[in-house]
Amino acid sequence: MLVLLFVGLIAGIFLWQKLYNPGELCAKCYRVLPSGARECPWCGESRD
Ligand SMILES: [Zn+2]
Repeated sequence: MLVLLFVGLIAGIFLWQKLYNPGELCAKCYRVLPSGARECPWCGESRD
């Protein structure tokens, strides 16, 4: 039961990110990139 809750929470966060659409996600680490950023501030991956 606890595992189901945990999986649901993670799925909820992903869904919320998709619905809220805060911006582009990094192709490498999947974190939200700030608008106008040329490369990922988290892992340094280029946007293109
Ligand atoms: Zn990244």
